[in-house]
Amino acid sequence: MKTIKLKPKKEESVLRHHPWVFSGAISTLPPDIEEGELVKVVAADGKTLGVGHYQIGSIAVRLLQFGEDKLPQDFFLQRLRSAFRLRQTLQLIRPDNNCFRLVHGEGDFLPGLVIDIYGDTAVMQAHSPGMHFERMKIAQALTELPEARIRNVYYKSETTLPFKARLDPQNDYLIGRFDGNVAIENGLKFNIDWLRGQKTGFFVDQRENRALLEKFAAGRKVLNMFCYTGGFSVYAMRGGALKVDSVDSSAKAAALTDANIELNFPDDPRHSTHAVDAFKFLAEMDKDAYDLIILDPPAFAKHRSALKNGLLGYRKLNAKAFEKIKSGGILFTFSCSQVVTREMFRLAVFTAAAQSGRKVRILHQLTQPADHPVDISHPEGEYLKGLVLYVE
Ligand code: SAH
Repeated sequence: MKTIKLKPKKEESVLRHHPWVFSGAISTLPPDIEEGELVKVVAADGKTLGVGHYQIGSIAVRLLQFGEDKLPQDFFLQRLRSAFRLRQTLQLIRPDNNCFRLVHGEGDFLPGLVIDIYGDTAVMQAHSPGMHFERMKIAQALTELPEARIRNVYYKSETTLPFKARLDPQNDYLIGRFDGNVAIENGLKFNIDWLRGQKTGFFVDQRENRALLEKFAAGRKVLNMFCYTGGFSVYAMRGGALKVDSVDSSAKAAALTDANIELNFPDDPRHSTHAVDAFKFLAEMDKDAYDLIILDPPAFAKHRSALKNGLLGYRKLNAKAFEKIKSGGILFTFSCSQVVTREMFRLAVFTAAAQSGRKVRILHQLTQPADHPVDISHPEGEYLKGLVLYVE
């Protein structure tokens, strides 16, 4: 195994178990080192710091193990077992719930790896070349978790791996094959299309927030903006909403929403889907038409460089909702941009509220669910923020 030596005093964050080594911290890089290689990292004085995957870019090493100079033979099985045990502790594996995130990258001490479970299928995404090279080993280890009963492993990394690494990953099954799946989340059914859908096919990270929304839905007129698979809409229907309108600019997403509504509430006249731009819909809709609005847009700021425009986007979107929502209405508003902090998001929403002149109170402050844990040494793992607001 090749060794990467750090510059003096650059080992401190690693000693605190932060799993990233930045390229600027490196003193010597072996000349023949290859992208995705497992490397040993040592401090300037030669002390072993750990082992991890090397990668070309600003994050040069993602550490898998601290204080050791090699990984145990069954490293992936050990980490997957511990991840599975946590999901059991969280009681996410039940007859009425068979979809959850099994591996949330750094939050499960597996930087560069995401695995979502839908029944007996695991959908796996590599975000680092190192995890890409280990994909077969990981898939094999998944089938060795006896209680998880995973039969199919679909690998979906065409859009998550660094383009420049030229790994040319093919989205395909590594083990088994099963193309049509209905997953169950809190007793509700969802068609999950991991072949064509966004991310792993479903946004499992909104599960708890959807469950909270259900409690507010009775007797309300609901607008679910950026609905994708219609997750919030299905919960609102079960919660007793009077009417639910789901909006997404993608015709494919609108079709997914229709299919999921049909699966749970066939021929229910309370629901309609609109394949239109959210900003256009908000501008054209009548004032007071809705008293429960969900705003769950895609990340407006994907990088630090887009932060200013992203925050402006959140402000404008929320201002429109404040302008139109009925008095006594509830607004569920989210940001999944990692670079937007909780404080920044709250300030953007506050500014929108102030602009609209509405009286707004915070009822709940929401986050990502427990199957998307944040390693306390790696605060960058926190990304989802939400507010539930009472608007007078
Ligand atoms: N709320 C969803 C996830 C939203 S993902 C859930 O709980 O699963 C973001 C969605 O926003 C995507 O489906 C995307 O198609 C849609 N989208 C992106 N830009 C949009 C726009 N300008 N207007 C409407 N929808 C948009």
